[in-house]
Amino acid sequence: MVQLDFMFPFAQTKGSTAALPALSPLALSCSLTGASVALAGTMPFVNDSLQEKYSRQMLFAGIGPEGQQQLLASHAAIVGCGAIGAAAANLLVRAGVGYLRIIDRDFVEPSNLQRQTLFDESDALNVLPKAVAAERKLRSINSSVAIEGVVADLTPHNAESLLDGVELLLDGTDNFETRFLINDVAVKSGRPWIYAAAVASYGLTMAMRPGATACLACLLESGTATQGLEETCDTIGVIGPIVNLISSVQVAEALKFLSGQPEALLGRLFSCDIWTGRMQSIGVARHPECRACSRRDFTYLSGQVQPRITMCGRDSVQIHERARALDLGALHTRLKPLADDVRQNGFLLRFRIAPYEMTVFADGRAILKGTKDPAVARSLYARYIGA
Ligand SMILES: [Zn+2]
Repeated sequence: MVQLDFMFPFAQTKGSTAALPALSPLALSCSLTGASVALAGTMPFVNDSLQEKYSRQMLFAGIGPEGQQQLLASHAAIVGCGAIGAAAANLLVRAGVGYLRIIDRDFVEPSNLQRQTLFDESDALNVLPKAVAAERKLRSINSSVAIEGVVADLTPHNAESLLDGVELLLDGTDNFETRFLINDVAVKSGRPWIYAAAVASYGLTMAMRPGATACLACLLESGTATQGLEETCDTIGVIGPIVNLISSVQVAEALKFLSGQPEALLGRLFSCDIWTGRMQSIGVARHPECRACSRRDFTYLSGQVQPRITMCGRDSVQIHERARALDLGALHTRLKPLADDVRQNGFLLRFRIAPYEMTVFADGRAILKGTKDPAVARSLYARYIGA
């Protein structure tokens, strides 16, 4: 290896005196050449601060100044802001996507912090909805991106409106029911979406473009692949590195599309086990009889498979109530003498009725911890929130 005896200029932070690792002469020459060319040019679409903010990304030949311009004008949505969604949101906002909508139904808990990189201890302490905590954090990271956090559960009734007005959808969900719903919306509207999932040390991702590639129904309903990730993070755990790797591949695909380079998309199902080091990508053919992208039968979007109560992690269920606004303050007053640890912020209310803990959102949804039994959930909801 050739040792360099000077500082590597564009990896150096202001005031840094730390010596940087040696790089090959080839890498150095490519980088410096790119720097001199791109920085010398004029880019009227961005002001000086934006030009500086995205300078390293614009130096990258795959994006360049024109790609950055397209990225700055792009609109994307992430459904689910858990580990993958949070990591993807972080990368997209730093990269300068123009607008990002983050839809999430859940709130921050201490067990999230090991891998969900947007959140911190104060978010968990304040039981902030993830969409709210993510929006706040992301605004402080890049104030030039329009960010909209939406506290909601994606359902057949709201999916099309919640996913309206963006050209790309990203999967940050933790269940196949919601993924098939996203797939239905994407295929119906002819927009691409990027599937991503991780459990334990294993993960998968694929950019799906209606009409051009297989869709999720081609992949999972036609028998060409197994469901693969039936286990969940709540049953067999997950480590942070695989989440970050998969979301990085997912966001690389997003950047290709949003910066106007769809021909660079992998078009394959990428998978990796970061513990064993096994990594592969496989081609997935469209299924000629696919329910969604061939027959245009949008079963999930038409609501035929949406139960009112669903499993939601280990030992908890979600109650999808009819959309109705709850007065959380009034509920707080009513529950105070009946329940333990009644706590409320502007977005949700939580209380304990041992051995259960219920979190109720302003839209009428609730998550009940301590049972897998839908009948118990229905009964407790009716008793404490109202039938
Ligand atoms: Zn299909």
